[in-house]
Amino acid sequence: MPDVTAFQLFGYIAAALALQILLAGAIAVLRRRPKIRQLLTDTASQKTPQGAWVGWRDFRVVARTYEDPAETQCSFTLAPVDGAPLPPFIPGQFLTVRLAMDGQGEPARVVRCYSISDTPDPGRYRITVKRAIAPPGKPDLPAGVASSWLHDHAQVGTILQFRAPSGQFVFSPDANASPVFIAGGIGITPILSMLKAALADQPGRAAHLYYGVRGGQDHAFKAVLSELAQTHPGLDLHVFYAEPATGDVQGRDYDHAGFISLDMLKQTLPHGRHAFYICGPDQMTKALIPALLAWGVQEGDIHREAFGPQSAALKPPAVTASGPVLTVGFRRSGRTLEWAGQDANLLDFAERQSIPVDSGCRSGSCGTCETRLISGRVRYETKPDHDIAPGHCLVCVGIPETALELDA
Ligand SMILES: Cc1cc2nc3c(=O)[nH]c(=O)nc-3n(C[C@H](O)[C@H](O)[C@H](O)COP(=O)(O)OP(=O)(O)OC[C@H]3O[C@@H](n4cnc5c(N)ncnc54)[C@H](O)[C@@H]3O)c2cc1C
Repeated sequence: MPDVTAFQLFGYIAAALALQILLAGAIAVLRRRPKIRQLLTDTASQKTPQGAWVGWRDFRVVARTYEDPAETQCSFTLAPVDGAPLPPFIPGQFLTVRLAMDGQGEPARVVRCYSISDTPDPGRYRITVKRAIAPPGKPDLPAGVASSWLHDHAQVGTILQFRAPSGQFVFSPDANASPVFIAGGIGITPILSMLKAALADQPGRAAHLYYGVRGGQDHAFKAVLSELAQTHPGLDLHVFYAEPATGDVQGRDYDHAGFISLDMLKQTLPHGRHAFYICGPDQMTKALIPALLAWGVQEGDIHREAFGPQSAALKPPAVTASGPVLTVGFRRSGRTLEWAGQDANLLDFAERQSIPVDSGCRSGSCGTCETRLISGRVRYETKPDHDIAPGHCLVCVGIPETALELDA
């Protein structure tokens, strides 16, 4: 064997050590590969929950049940036709449905949003739809298009198309604030989902539910709610009947006559910080939200959802009628009009001028009216639920801030 100098020997040992370290590193990386893959999947799944889908997915109605004695509020349980697991949703979120209704010629497509009315289940979702009748005093107007169709035509076996759950009106547990859920009429749907999830997550938690309906005939989910109250002593349930009928008995069917009011909240809520979750008709939110703010409740502790045109903004919309006149171009319609601030949003403005724009919820939730903004700036009184794609705007809740050119 040739002579090896001390320097050469040191070099061999150093090289062997470096090789060993390299090998150990490579083995560790290989061993961790599944973890890395998992990590990447987890990170991606934060953006798109596992099982979520883009666009429309077919669901079969697997059950339908009336939730109130008047049979105006009907739950539809929906299972995906492809049988793949459903993504979890955050209680309070809604689904967007697209209905193709037969008429003369092409079937009319109608898009509407419906809150998920139960807790997450990988196999099914449930929505509850109130049949919308003509407004009071206007019997000649047609009844609600989508809700009537669902009540009259969506039977067990019917296939309907839905977009994935979305929405920002969601329950976020806060250890320092007990939840106060306030529901008016069909506004109970997201509230019930939130309440059930809140109690399932922490069965002993203090929670308050104020639920207002017209009378016993409209009292939905009565058995479910009283069972929740019986099994969860921390749940404080207050049912209000605005117009109790002769057969409605206070103490048995309902707790209070009249509307949910700030006075009642003050009388019945314990001291301390509360997080308010409110969903109900305009009349209710318009009365309660300013009253809560005036009482000193922080804006951040008031979460609310409106089921119709955006009407439950915490603060009244800014008056735009006195602003400058702005031009709004509708490229595809080939029209340029002047916005003088007299309309609540661009959709009302377009419709008043007979410019066709597809729309669904009229509240910034479903994204049906999303339109490319060729130039200009659009503002929103409150942040829309729908995530607007860059360079686009929502016509149903958008207000021009500058002159606009829309691809509509
Ligand atoms: C985020 C979100 C969640 C929702 N969740 C639920 C839910 O859980 N359950 C639920 O039932 N609803 C929910 N909605 C409401 C739902 O999306 C629909 O708006 C509702 O079902 C009414 O739709 P429709 O097609 O039946 O009525 P539409 O056809 O839109 O009519 C609405 C009302 O206008 C009246 N009307 C018709 N023509 C005129 C006219 N010319 N002038 C004035 N009024 C007229 C109709 O009689 C009816 O009362 C939600 C909405 C949103 C935005």
